[in-house]
Amino acid sequence: MIYLGSHVSFKAPHYLLGSIQESLSYGANACMIYTGAPSNTKRVPVERFQIEQAFDLMKQVGFDLQRIIVHAPYLINLANTVQPDLFDFGVRFLQSEVQRTARLHASTLVLHPGCHLKAGLQTGIDQIVKGLNQVLDNDSSSVRIALETMAGKGTEIGFEFSQLKMILERIHRPDRIGFCLDTCHMHDAGYDLQDTEGLLQMIDSQLGLDRILAIHINDSKNPQGSRKDRHANIGKGCIGLEALARMVHHPVLQEVTKILETPYIEKRPPYKEEIALLRKSA
Ligand code: FE
Ligand code: FE
Ligand code: ZN
Repeated sequence: MIYLGSHVSFKAPHYLLGSIQESLSYGANACMIYTGAPSNTKRVPVERFQIEQAFDLMKQVGFDLQRIIVHAPYLINLANTVQPDLFDFGVRFLQSEVQRTARLHASTLVLHPGCHLKAGLQTGIDQIVKGLNQVLDNDSSSVRIALETMAGKGTEIGFEFSQLKMILERIHRPDRIGFCLDTCHMHDAGYDLQDTEGLLQMIDSQLGLDRILAIHINDSKNPQGSRKDRHANIGKGCIGLEALARMVHHPVLQEVTKILETPYIEKRPPYKEEIALLRKSA
């Protein structure tokens, strides 16, 4: 069994119930949501999420709770040492986001590690460690934060596996940290997605395959190493269908939830077709 879905909307009036309905319309058995707009931190109270209604539907159709992934908003930047108030805001918001994730009974919260804003890689990593420890030291849930592999655009941290490893090694609660691979980001960061076995070996030795909690399956509009982060539709970019399908169907990644974040085509979601295409490309 593979667990494959897409980023889906989470909005008024049905929130989680609507997200699950949207996923089912794509033939998905997994999904990823933002608990509000990805680019702002306005959030409605959890009471309005229609969680019970969503769970009833999930039970009916056999959609597993563990297959809901939550993504934290982009504007949390735990690497920020330039604007201390924004760092503090990021810590507080991430804390509330972990709690919302727990209320949704989801187990994984994806987070972009952060941007050092020209303060330097090591300074940024130190700040991320400080922020994550502040969040996890004050949280009693079992939600795990999955640090995403980044494309290396601008001053992004986490585009090399070694950077993510450096963060993990200094976390007080390593049991609460995992990783989210993103195929477009790894390719843009310079990793060779055509060499699936070599890539997985590298991931295993640096991060541990048992810490991979989710995978974003995206093609890339740009060549390997371009550090651009422009997602392309499946099979329409520089990675190609075959390499992406190898990740989706690889036996060592079988239990990992896979999520499409590919762009809409003419204002329509491509997910139903892309999920079907990847499923049959075993
Ligand atoms: Fe992301
Ligand atoms: Fe991603
Ligand atoms: Zn991206």
